Amino acid sequence: MRYIYSRAIIAICLLALVSAQTWAQKSAEVASPDGNIKVTVKTDEKGFVTYGVKVEGADFLIDSPLGLTANNGDFRSNMTITSSETKAVKKEFKQTRIKHSEVKYDANEMIVHTENAEKVPFDIQFAVTNTDVAFRYIMPKSGETGSTRIFHEATGFRFPKETTTFLCPQSDPMVGWKRTKPSYEEEYVADAPLNAHSKFNHGFTFPCLFHLPNDGWALVSETGVDSKYCASHLSNNINGVFMVEFPMPGENNGNGTVEPAFALPGATPWRTISLGKSLKPIVESTITWALVDPVYETENEYKMGKGTWSWILWQDESINYDDQVKYIDLAAAMKFQYVLVDNWWDTNIGRDKIAELVKYAQSKGVDVFLWYSSSGYWNDIVQGPINCMDRAIVRKKEMKWMKSLGVKGIKVDFFGGDKQETIRLYEDILSDADDNGLMVIFHGCTIPRGWERMYPNYVGSEAVLASENMIFGQNNCDQEGFRTTLYPFVRNVIGSMEYGGCFLNKRMHKSNNSGNYRKTSDVFQLSSCILFQNAIQNFAIAPNNLEDAPKECLEFLTNVPTEWDETRLIEGYPGKYIVMARRHGDKWYVAVTNGEMTDREVSINIDEIFGKDAKVEMLSDAKDGGVLKSQVKAKKGLLKLKVGGEKAIVLMN
Ligand code: CA
Repeated sequence: MRYIYSRAIIAICLLALVSAQTWAQKSAEVASPDGNIKVTVKTDEKGFVTYGVKVEGADFLIDSPLGLTANNGDFRSNMTITSSETKAVKKEFKQTRIKHSEVKYDANEMIVHTENAEKVPFDIQFAVTNTDVAFRYIMPKSGETGSTRIFHEATGFRFPKETTTFLCPQSDPMVGWKRTKPSYEEEYVADAPLNAHSKFNHGFTFPCLFHLPNDGWALVSETGVDSKYCASHLSNNINGVFMVEFPMPGENNGNGTVEPAFALPGATPWRTISLGKSLKPIVESTITWALVDPVYETENEYKMGKGTWSWILWQDESINYDDQVKYIDLAAAMKFQYVLVDNWWDTNIGRDKIAELVKYAQSKGVDVFLWYSSSGYWNDIVQGPINCMDRAIVRKKEMKWMKSLGVKGIKVDFFGGDKQETIRLYEDILSDADDNGLMVIFHGCTIPRGWERMYPNYVGSEAVLASENMIFGQNNCDQEGFRTTLYPFVRNVIGSMEYGGCFLNKRMHKSNNSGNYRKTSDVFQLSSCILFQNAIQNFAIAPNNLEDAPKECLEFLTNVPTEWDETRLIEGYPGKYIVMARRHGDKWYVAVTNGEMTDREVSINIDEIFGKDAKVEMLSDAKDGGVLKSQVKAKKGLLKLKVGGEKAIVLMN
């Protein structure tokens, strides 16, 4: 009897111990340096880890899930927070090719140490600045296990119910032109309800913009994605939560796994949430670059600038020697640095004549970018050159040849999706290109994720419904106002955007009297050169514009910088209008761009931008279709402007 009694006591004690551990609701908290943003991490009774974010006391993210499952353990449930530590981190560095030339990072970083049911350690690292929350998982090495394969992430984002969204659906894989999708070329839907379903049922691509009740804004994206992980996107809204999703199995023609893997110790990419009570901190955020480091150093000096490209307006037929000479001459006349020779040059011009063309360009002070397909075995692309970029042996030989000619860069098109092996291909191309002094532009591709900082020869990526679509369909011309005033709030916030814009033809055709109609004004086109950031801009102007475009437009394009020291959002609403200022040296350029069809009035304090008594010039659309250049006179620095529908005003000092 006594014996049975003591066994029962022991059993009860054991039970109490186990439940005390299981039901431990430990939590950890970190705030931004100014105290306005608070992040709370906690575990529930089943050991699920969640995080919440408040801005000035208001809920931005609520009980959002964290964790993952991998082949070395389940780190999603039965987790215990063992300890946490917080430290202040400050750094500053110079960064070319993005919206600010100096990145200042001032954050409180917290590491939450957890372990799973098998006592395998798993860390969650948070970085909280005054405008951003970011987090990633760090997996220490535990025992003999030297690597991990991630099956599934439980990472999610739960916004308040009344939140509305600005999201871009993920495409089906292996559809579209020559089965090249997904390539981040779907249409954003503005002001949609939180539970709106993705058009193709594959969730949404980064960056994802959320408009919260009480007028908060949040932009979700990721950074630091290199060859050691896949690129991710967000799921549909599942019971109020958007989950991080891996690529679709069908991407890359079904080749390659969707489950990323890395060596231990290792870490996942950072997931970033830029947030605030207005759009300003989001548009101006540099969190994408602050959290990553250069992957390699370079010995080369890369020169950014502007270029012409015949393909955008004159299309495939223009990839011949004589037409390329015309576009080199156009670049020289405009004082641009580059010409981009697009697809089919290998057969329609040929390698010997390309060598001659590069020499001709150099004689005019113009350098050459050459187009390549990323491959031949994950889509149906026949435009050459194909099969030169996907295999190191061929790629290195090709790049050596380009270097011997003095080619300065490549545009690589039509990638296979977001799987880890495709991200590895991006990185390998960049690395080999740098060995040969080549800059790299990606098209038909994924968005960059910190790549301007990570890869010194990376210039920009398309990954947007770009200017080419205005050639392909009138509906894209009709949507130009909406898209131009939307992208500075979403796609272009997180990385360089190779849009290829600024048409000065009225019609989207070589002849300028057939093809789709451009609805937006000339100054609207000029304003897009300020709004869209890419350190090399290939503009869509054509040789005839030297004669038929307003001379103010040509003068503007010759002078407008493509590298910026500072970027400021003055005001705006995604898809409706934007007032954005960018600075290069001591010169400010302000775009006041109206994406809607009705007039809009704005008041701008120009003293705050240009300084008091600065001489400010204004470009505006004249009634007769020309461009007016005038001197700005404002009372007490407050400038009232009326901007017509699908028109713009540009201010500069
Ligand atoms: Ca494209």
